[in-house]
Amino acid sequence: MPKALRLPGVVLLLAILATAPHFAQSIYYERPVETAPQEETIGDGYKTPEVQKPLPRHFWLQWLDVLLLGAAMGAAVWIVLARRRRRWLVWLNIASLGYFGFYREGCICPIGSIQNVTVALADPTYSIPIVAVAVFFLPLFVALFFGRAFCGGVCPLGAMQELVLLRPVHVPRRLDQALGLLKYVYLGLAIVFALKPALSRDFLICRFDPFVGFFRFSGEASMLTVGAVFLIGGMFIGRPYCRYLCPYGGLLSWTTRLANRGVTITPDKELDCGLCTEACPYGAIDKMRAVRRKCLYCARCYESCPRDGELAHAKEELIEIGGPR
Ligand code: SF4
Ligand code: SF4
Repeated sequence: MPKALRLPGVVLLLAILATAPHFAQSIYYERPVETAPQEETIGDGYKTPEVQKPLPRHFWLQWLDVLLLGAAMGAAVWIVLARRRRRWLVWLNIASLGYFGFYREGCICPIGSIQNVTVALADPTYSIPIVAVAVFFLPLFVALFFGRAFCGGVCPLGAMQELVLLRPVHVPRRLDQALGLLKYVYLGLAIVFALKPALSRDFLICRFDPFVGFFRFSGEASMLTVGAVFLIGGMFIGRPYCRYLCPYGGLLSWTTRLANRGVTITPDKELDCGLCTEACPYGAIDKMRAVRRKCLYCARCYESCPRDGELAHAKEELIEIGGPR
């Protein structure tokens, strides 16, 4: 994170953490379920716990989520590809983390919707809301043209990891490549478990989401611990969940191969000085060019570029106001 943004970023993150429980959506309950065995059939003074079902979210609010998802991705593309400003992207990360993470409590997200889409394709009796379909396809569609804008500016899981990255170390290339295969194994397992018959079906991606417990301020201790390990490890290894485990990241990485626009490290002529390779915490620069399928759209490499970093922008601004050339 740029130095100027470190303090406000941390303050805002702490403020979100402190206030999120008050702003998080309350879940309304209704309709006690009476199909379970009742107290009188069980006997021995057994008390049936109240099992209840949450009301669905209003239709227009669901579409508002889709609209915001599209707008945030549009903003990420504009900031990264047109304006080339990491600073603005950090603010977008913070806003997305606040809305899609803490306010919407990490749901609905394209990562988990992999399973709903899989079941809907295989089981004609299973219906899936059109909003879930839109949330699943929209980031892939954008990646098809512009690269992984969803990962760079919108995904709350990615934003959380992006904001905790303090001192990135480089993972040796071979190890990075080998670990990168895990996400495809996980994707395969998630599909296999989603395709099981209804009674034994399991949505692994949602059950083992390491960050959703933080967004909801609740969850199993084991998963909160895993999430904490990812965040602590993520202070040194850039976005470990994104690079090595996220199954949707695997799909995005394949879709991005077809994109004809993406991050280019300098706005015009490459200097081939190699500073950007050092600056990329995700091992996404090879032979001094951004590798689109790995590039997480973080715009860190711009800052290190003598043709495009803070100094270059300061010079441009001086020229605009008629200062020294
Ligand atoms: S790789 Fe997965 S978790 Fe990471 S930012 Fe992209 S979609 Fe989110
Ligand atoms: S090449 Fe690396 S540093 Fe540059 S935007 Fe992509 S992931 Fe970030």
